[in-house]
Amino acid sequence: MKDPVIHQLTIPTPFAVGDVHTYLLVDDAVTLIDTGPDTAEGKGTLIKKLNEIGFQPEDIDQIVLTHHHPDHAGLTEFFGDAKLFAHKDSERFLVRNDSFMNMHDFFYNEFFKQAGLPEPYFILIEKMKETLSVMGKRPADEYLADGDLLPGHQGWRVMESHGHSQGHISLIHENGMVIGGDLLIRHISSNPLIEPPFGINQPRPLPQLQYNESLKKLAALNPTVVYPGHGEVIVQAAALISERLIKQAERAGYVKSLLQQKEATVFELCTQLFPKIYKKQLGLTLSETQGQIDYLMAEGEIRAADMSGSAVIYKAESGVKL
Ligand SMILES: [Zn+2]
Ligand SMILES: [Zn+2]
Repeated sequence: MKDPVIHQLTIPTPFAVGDVHTYLLVDDAVTLIDTGPDTAEGKGTLIKKLNEIGFQPEDIDQIVLTHHHPDHAGLTEFFGDAKLFAHKDSERFLVRNDSFMNMHDFFYNEFFKQAGLPEPYFILIEKMKETLSVMGKRPADEYLADGDLLPGHQGWRVMESHGHSQGHISLIHENGMVIGGDLLIRHISSNPLIEPPFGINQPRPLPQLQYNESLKKLAALNPTVVYPGHGEVIVQAAALISERLIKQAERAGYVKSLLQQKEATVFELCTQLFPKIYKKQLGLTLSETQGQIDYLMAEGEIRAADMSGSAVIYKAESGVKL
């Protein structure tokens, strides 16, 4: 099978991550993978880049979202006539109805209490929602799940790759190409972000563990090239993935060593791991720290030993693990 036609369209975002890549696939259908943010600059740049390769916004038959983050999923309403595909686990952030947003606030309030976050930082719950203002509110027309074929395009299938977000998907071509969203980025490690559970009385997802599994799934495909959501196109992805997995295990080992010195809450560990940036990047650094805790808990290296008010205090297991 000949290689598919993929156009990379790079769009500015108002976020620290910088530009985002969207991709136009042209076959029986014209499909835009991710849209960029719903900002005047983002929309203008996307239209200009489409025009440069001979397309108008109305030529787009369908949109596929790799995940629900605002730098990727902004212009869903602008492309209102295009069929919208996403994973079902992205839907709640695409629609953002009142019951989900209430649950969202309640969940983070409880999560922050358990992490031992001091009260003044709880303003973060409102701040996290500000970024959602550059996203349309539109439900998906159809869900994509693991193994689904991409309609209108030969040779592409969907791989679920949860972790960076819930409902993250990548598109895999049988020639070995991957459109990976934020699953793997060359110049930065992609954060597994904490999200609310999918129902009352459900446990929250464990994004670090999901993310490691998703990376291993990607490595097992031995992709020829990964087209990412940010930064340069990635060849030799398997080597980069094993580097990332080793670094994560090393960081977890460091967290365990901190807990061997002194038991601590997630917030206390966060300030030790990220002393210079935790105040500015609290959402990301807390997620990252909780991810290491989830990983160490799953490995049986640490335990939740005590409570201080609502905050959980973690302690390293003393036994030497073989
Ligand atoms: Zn993302
Ligand atoms: Zn992104």
